[in-house]
Amino acid sequence: MAYQVIARKWRPQIFEEVIGQEAITRTLRNAIEHDRLHHAYVFSGARGVGKTTTARLLAKALNCHKTESPNPKPCDTSKEGACPSCVEISEGRSLDVLEFDAASHTKVEEIRDIILEGININPARDRFKVFIIDEVHMLSKSSFNALLKTLEEPPERVVFMMATTEHHKVPVTILSRCQEFEFHTIPLKEIFGRLRMIADAEKIEVEDHILLEIARSGEGSMRDAQSNFDQVISFSEGAITSENVGIALGIAGAEVVIRALEAIGAKDHKHLFEIVAGLADSGHDLGHFSNNLMICIRDLLVYKLAGEKSVLIESSSLDEANLEQIASRFSETDLIRCFNSLAETSVRMRSANEPRYLLEIGLLKLVEMRSLANIEDLIKRFESGIPTHGESQVQEQSDDTASMAAAADSKKKL
Ligand SMILES: [Zn+2]
Repeated sequence: MAYQVIARKWRPQIFEEVIGQEAITRTLRNAIEHDRLHHAYVFSGARGVGKTTTARLLAKALNCHKTESPNPKPCDTSKEGACPSCVEISEGRSLDVLEFDAASHTKVEEIRDIILEGININPARDRFKVFIIDEVHMLSKSSFNALLKTLEEPPERVVFMMATTEHHKVPVTILSRCQEFEFHTIPLKEIFGRLRMIADAEKIEVEDHILLEIARSGEGSMRDAQSNFDQVISFSEGAITSENVGIALGIAGAEVVIRALEAIGAKDHKHLFEIVAGLADSGHDLGHFSNNLMICIRDLLVYKLAGEKSVLIESSSLDEANLEQIASRFSETDLIRCFNSLAETSVRMRSANEPRYLLEIGLLKLVEMRSLANIEDLIKRFESGIPTHGESQVQEQSDDTASMAAAADSKKKL
């Protein structure tokens, strides 16, 4: 049998398998059960979070032959005994469920040809004629107008399902005639859980921390995470290593992120330059590296505040030993400052022509800001009479604090 990519092979077949969108699938199932169906739906949200998948499932539910009326539990086509309608919809060849991409059919003539021409003709075999329009925001103004007329007076056995990643570009006149659902990006742990299930079923050897790295690379998109997993599988021979993930996806592995944190902790400027040079020379995604570093800093803070066993720790790069060793080098204030500064760098890198230089300076800033003492600590030391000592900036600040206090003191005397 020909190799089937993971995203296609493991596409959800029943509502329960759509990960991270439980509120939506439950509402739709209830609507089917209680016969409260709309004639038009808009599914909005980021890419790869289950919009088109849900539309197909809803189409299956509407037309499933197993029941007399729409079936909230349509056939699982990966199993024997599925009805012909469900099988055809899953394979994208149903006569009554038409799926098309608005990005490549924006013109009004095409909308007329594909949708409006035959809209009053009854479905060929099934209960409903379903039109699934992907990236609906790409339609031209005249196409939207043509569609609007149909939505105003919808034929009885027609259902529209429109998916968009850019909800704000869909005219309000269209939206007001549809039932809207907003799909959320999928939590990391849920993407990881799905990848784990797939890896086990496919007998792919991969350790949890590596799989977590792949799950994270999807940035909230199940489809992206699954196709990245595909890419890593084709790249690796035998067991999947962290290094393979780094090379196959062009992202920095855990080891580089840890080295960077250690260099920041040790105030090793030179090594930070070397790390960035290494990433840039091997064509790694610098934005991804910066984000990963940010997640680790956040996790170090969680570790300090909530302890090592906290379920809130998300990083795939840091294990318990790393956490303890690196966290001991930073104060909580350090970590908050570093996080804020790095967040700023990440935003600026997105629109920069030379993100490499911004990253270099951004990392140096993290080292430098650690040299500044925490002003609250200084005041405490001053008040308790402990002499402040150490770096020059610390001394300057304590001098300032001393003169401010002296000034306040002399005011009191007056
Ligand atoms: Zn069926």
